[in-house]
Amino acid sequence: MNISSIRGMHPQGPDRTGLWQEVERILVHIAKSYGYKEIRFPVLEKTELFCRAVGQATDIVEKEMYTFIDRNGDQLTLRPEGTASCVKAAHECALLNGQTQKLWYMGPMFRHERPQKGRYRQFHQFGVEVFGEPGAGVLLELILIIERIWKKLGIASQISLQLNSLGSTECRASYRELLVDFFSAHKDDLDEDSQRRLQTNPLRILDSKNPQMQSLIAMAPKLLDHLDEASRAELDSVRTVLDTSGIRYEINPHLVRGLDYYNGLVFEWVTDRLGAQGTVCAGGRYDGLVKQLGGRDMPAAGLAMGLERVLCLCEELETLQPNECADAYFVAFGSDAFAKMLNLKEDLHDRMEEYILQINTAGGSFKSQMKKADRSGAKLAIIMGDDELSEGCVGVKFLREDRPQEKVALTELENYLKSHLDKRKHHGINA
Ligand code: ATP
Ligand code: MG
Repeated sequence: MNISSIRGMHPQGPDRTGLWQEVERILVHIAKSYGYKEIRFPVLEKTELFCRAVGQATDIVEKEMYTFIDRNGDQLTLRPEGTASCVKAAHECALLNGQTQKLWYMGPMFRHERPQKGRYRQFHQFGVEVFGEPGAGVLLELILIIERIWKKLGIASQISLQLNSLGSTECRASYRELLVDFFSAHKDDLDEDSQRRLQTNPLRILDSKNPQMQSLIAMAPKLLDHLDEASRAELDSVRTVLDTSGIRYEINPHLVRGLDYYNGLVFEWVTDRLGAQGTVCAGGRYDGLVKQLGGRDMPAAGLAMGLERVLCLCEELETLQPNECADAYFVAFGSDAFAKMLNLKEDLHDRMEEYILQINTAGGSFKSQMKKADRSGAKLAIIMGDDELSEGCVGVKFLREDRPQEKVALTELENYLKSHLDKRKHHGINA
């Protein structure tokens, strides 16, 4: 192929898609088991949606969006995140009428960033959004869902939870002034990025990853010391419940999130196993967004997980090992035997939905067919030639054991296979 691919956008071959499916299956299963329902929304939206929701002075809107003019002259953007689109879709589906809505989504997002491990231009997020509930209850539920997911994926020991509160709009505005005063007094110590942020989005200076900035940031006034009453109470009640539930967390006063719509409690799950790209999941409360986009004034909270980073952790820790090998591999010699085998296998698929039954559809010598059977990873090869066809039986060869071949009557085959094969718990077929 002489067409080069787009940087930071990668196909996933069958050696990895099994893991993707397994992770996705667990996420969906857990979200559903808490009563969350799926919402789907377009990959493209009017650019204005993200500018208004995510915020003009954020990294995403300033420099990461894939934006273009379509044939009608409309300015469109490939979704860089899910929350803005989710709010719009929920509004269009008439879900935002005041009653609680608990929703999840999953799919590709697009950001024009510098590609590196854990950072891609097409990446995937699983997200959860709740509309219509103020208070700490829903925040706790979100945290518990994610903690359950880490446990189920087997990566909980490598991930830790950080909390902060961004306070109300009003208290953040007065804190912003304090911060601008502080950093202005130390302007010479600010790096280029932070000098720019000082004008546009001073809270984001706190999020700087530049090591040279850290000692200054540590001295800056903390929003936590200037929180409004309600945000303080929200944070305290979340902490109280987490303390009793044994979920470990850390308060990180510099956690500000890169999107403008957040207020009140915000959280991130971080790991030090992935180098610089340490955040695997992040979210918080965003009470103003629904109204800002033209809906009712209603509370909301949500979070999004970066699936590539989660997958990478699962691979490094070797926690999930999806097995997509065949259970039994069917080989036939001669066209009559092949036709018989095909039909026989159809009957077995009806009654053995949770097994992988493969057949060689390309004919060939005994040797080449047995080679394929072996490569399929199957435990058993089911063999039919002229003799077996006329006798109404098959030969069963144990591909992974040193054990003599057996002869099994066609009428007995289903029971025979079920007693010799391990039942698959899931590989997406019957889960
Ligand atoms: P970061 O600080 O890593 O840039 P962010 O604050 O931009 O993250 P969010 O917009 O909160 O990230 O997205 C939620 C999650 O999506 C992140 O925690 C991360 O796991 C994942 N994510 C974000 N951008 C990318 C990307 N370019 N490639 C892969 N995963 C990403
Ligand atoms: Mg980012």
